[in-house]
Amino acid sequence: MGIASIFKWLVKKEKWSDRSREPRFYALETCDGCRLCYDECPTGHIKWINDRPEWEKPCLMCASCANICPSGAITYGVPPEVKKTKGEA
Ligand code: SF4
Ligand code: SF4
Repeated sequence: MGIASIFKWLVKKEKWSDRSREPRFYALETCDGCRLCYDECPTGHIKWINDRPEWEKPCLMCASCANICPSGAITYGVPPEVKKTKGEA
């Protein structure tokens, strides 16, 4: 394996190991900080940071948090701010 191939392999490895790119639950701007999702999660996978919920992986994908949200603010995917910082938006 030449040096160019090794470099390409490392770049690819870094890309695929970047977990911030993985889809996950996140709260839209309509979140009013009621904390119901945080209290509802049976596995404690939701962190409460700066008055907003933040989701961690892996989780059960039971969707209890999304179902209880009174604002319909919980969605699933790669958060727009992550796409922006990665130059994908
Ligand atoms: S889907 Fe279920 S396990 Fe995952 S964060 Fe929401 S309530 Fe918790
Ligand atoms: S339940 Fe909905 S509105 Fe309440 S904190 Fe969670 S995401 Fe925000």
